[in-house]
Amino acid sequence: MGMGIGMDSAAVRARMVRLLAEGGIADQAVLKAMNTIERHRFVDTALAPQAYEDTSLPIGLSQTISKPNVVARMIALLREGAVLDAQGKMGRVLEIGSGCGYQAAILSLLCKEVYSIERLRGLYDKALVNVRHLSAANLHLLLGDGMLGAPGGAPFAGIIAAAGGEAIPQAWVDQLAVGGRIVAPTGQGSTQSLLVIDKTERGLKQTVLESVLFVPLKSGVA
Ligand code: SAH
Repeated sequence: MGMGIGMDSAAVRARMVRLLAEGGIADQAVLKAMNTIERHRFVDTALAPQAYEDTSLPIGLSQTISKPNVVARMIALLREGAVLDAQGKMGRVLEIGSGCGYQAAILSLLCKEVYSIERLRGLYDKALVNVRHLSAANLHLLLGDGMLGAPGGAPFAGIIAAAGGEAIPQAWVDQLAVGGRIVAPTGQGSTQSLLVIDKTERGLKQTVLESVLFVPLKSGVA
């Protein structure tokens, strides 16, 4: 330990953050969180040299850690218009698809509480190990089918999905607080778009943004 990327990761991480800012990520809190969380700790040692490139990487069981740019963009969207506390943090947030735990770790710095749910036991176990060094008491990793949401944590100020289904599950809408926002990839196969759903007192407002490519949202636990 302490060899290789770990030793000089601060410089490459700062470069990643600079490129995110140049690429249009303007939310300083998001940039700061991405400068704090060490992405190389969330991927296999062999992939650590690529950890600060703007690319998705395999994390096992045919799943991938999202590109830094996508993580930053989605969290910035989630925070846009959200009620922030004195420390600039959002309330309780649900992440669907913990994967290796990277995005959950970023969220733990930006939200009062994070519930992150993963359907694959192998990745749930991996995420538990990966976030341990953070001692984040506000981060709750759950094993379960995220299509059902996480009723125990509801209502949520925000819901962010790292896997894309054909439609937004009703459970997410039900578990979203009024004034809350869902950010999720939605669509069929390779024609997914980033969808933003705002829950207002007058109903749901849906905005379709750029096309994206995420791993599929699947039901059940495996
Ligand atoms: N945020 C993750 C990205 C992981 S990829 C990270 O930072 O690494 C998306 C993950 O969503 C995969 O691990 C996949 O198993 C998971 N997933 C897909 N459908 C799901 C569901 N219904 N409930 C929970 N997790 C799901």
